[in-house]
Amino acid sequence: MRRTSLVAASLAALTLAGCTSDPKPAPVAAAAASKAPAVDYAAWNAGRSAPVADPVYPERGNPQLDVLHYGLDLAWDPTTRTLTGTATLRIRPLADLAEIRLDFANYTLDASTVDGQPRAGSVAKEKFAIPATLTKDKPVTLVVKYHGTPATVKMPSHRGDAEGLGLTITADNELWTMQEPYGAFTWYPVNDQPSDRALYDFAVTAPEGWSAIASGTPDKQEGNTFRYTSRDPVASYLTTLAVGKFQKETATGPHGLPLTYWYKADTDPVILSYLRKSPQYVEWLEKRFGPYPFPSGGIVLVASESGMETQQMITMGIPKVADKSRLPNVMDGDLLHEYAHQWFGDAVTTSTWNDLWLNEGWAMYAQLLWEDERDHVTDAQLETWLRKRDADLRAKVGPPGHPKADSFAESNVYLCPAAMLHEIHQAVGDEKFYAMARDWIAQNKGSQDRASFVAFVNRHTGQDFTALIDAWLDSPTTPA
Ligand SMILES: [Zn+2]
Repeated sequence: MRRTSLVAASLAALTLAGCTSDPKPAPVAAAAASKAPAVDYAAWNAGRSAPVADPVYPERGNPQLDVLHYGLDLAWDPTTRTLTGTATLRIRPLADLAEIRLDFANYTLDASTVDGQPRAGSVAKEKFAIPATLTKDKPVTLVVKYHGTPATVKMPSHRGDAEGLGLTITADNELWTMQEPYGAFTWYPVNDQPSDRALYDFAVTAPEGWSAIASGTPDKQEGNTFRYTSRDPVASYLTTLAVGKFQKETATGPHGLPLTYWYKADTDPVILSYLRKSPQYVEWLEKRFGPYPFPSGGIVLVASESGMETQQMITMGIPKVADKSRLPNVMDGDLLHEYAHQWFGDAVTTSTWNDLWLNEGWAMYAQLLWEDERDHVTDAQLETWLRKRDADLRAKVGPPGHPKADSFAESNVYLCPAAMLHEIHQAVGDEKFYAMARDWIAQNKGSQDRASFVAFVNRHTGQDFTALIDAWLDSPTTPA
C-alpha cells in the first residue's frame, strides 16, 4: 500500500485427467455413475501453502485449509448493481474436517457443490460454511454460485486515506477494489489471510462497451468476457478487480515485458505521463533487485485516494495532496513504491500481518532511494530525516514489529524498517546490500517472516544482524 514520503518536500482452465494411481481403465458404467470427473490437483501444486492463523486478524482466514486454485467466473450488471459469480475452489484440507469454512460476504447463495455433490451452504457473519467430509491432504473441489450487491467493510485503521475495504461501487455503478489487510471476501468466497497463496483464473463479463480488469496475466477476450490468469501464487489481498468504461493502452517494459495501463478518458495527461514511466520504474528496480518477478504488469487507475500493489496489475488512485504542484512527484514516488512491491510483498509475501514491515520497509526504502536520486538528496540528509521521522513515529504509534489490530499500516511499519534497511545498507555497502536484496527475492519466493529474514541476512552477509534488526523492530525509541 502507498505511503507518501515527504523527504523531497522537506528536502486456468480446468484440467481433467484420469486418476494416475489406478493403472486399470475404469469400467464404463462406473465412470458414468461417477459423481464428479477426476481432477488432477497436481496441476495446482504451485498453489500449495502452509497457512498459519494470523495473530493480528485471527478472525479472518482458516489455517486448516490450503486453497490451491480459485476459478472465478464473474459478471457485473450495473443497472441492477448485481455481481453474479461462480467460484470454483480447489482446496487441500490440512486436517480431517466436517465442513469447509471460508470468508465471504452476505451474498445470496444460488447453489453449492462439494466434489459435484449438491450441498446446502450458508453465509453468516462474513463466513461461508458448507458441510463436507474432508480428509487431511485429500483435495476437494468446492463450487459456489452466488449473486448480490457488493458492499465494503470498515478498514481497521486511523490512516488519513482509509477507505472501505473490498469491492467498491462508484457513483457511475462501476467497480474497483482495495483490500489490505482483508476484503477479497466482499466479492468471492476466500481464505482471506496472507499465508494462503493460490493460483487464479478470472473470467469477468462486463457490460457492452465496458472493460473488466483483474490481477494476473491477460488472456484471450471472448465477447465481453475478459480473462486473467495467475500461474504465480497470489495472496488474496493482492488480487484486484475493476469493471468500468476504461481506456486501454499497452506498452513494453524491459526485455519485452508486456504492460497494460487502464484509465478513464478524462484522465489528466500529467497523471498519464507517470503511468507511461512504468518501463523506467521496472528498469530501475531490476538493476537493483533482479528481474521483475512476473510475466506481465500494469496499472489500473481507479477512484481511490490510496494505491495497492495488486499482483501484476497495480490498483492506483490519484493521491490527495494539499499543494497541487507536488502531485507529479507524489505520483512518481507512489508508483515506484507499488512497482517495488511486485518484488517485496508480492513475489515474497509476509506470512502474517505482524510482519507487514517486511513488505512496506522494502517498498518504502526503494521509494526513498528513487526519490533521493531524483531530488539530489544526499545519504547524510536521508539518514537525518529518517532518524527524525523514526523517533516521532515510535513515540506516536510504537515500534513497527508489533502492529495493533485497529491501526493497520501506520507510517511506523514503512519508515522505521526503511531506516533499519538503511543501517544494514550502510554497514555492508552497495555491492553486498543489493546482492543480498536480489537473493532474498530469488531464493525466498513465497511466505516469509521475521525469523526467516534475520536468518537470511545473517547467512548472506556473514555478519550477525539479529540484535540490530530486533532493536529496529521492537525498540520504543530509535536505536543508537
Ligand atoms: Zn506499500
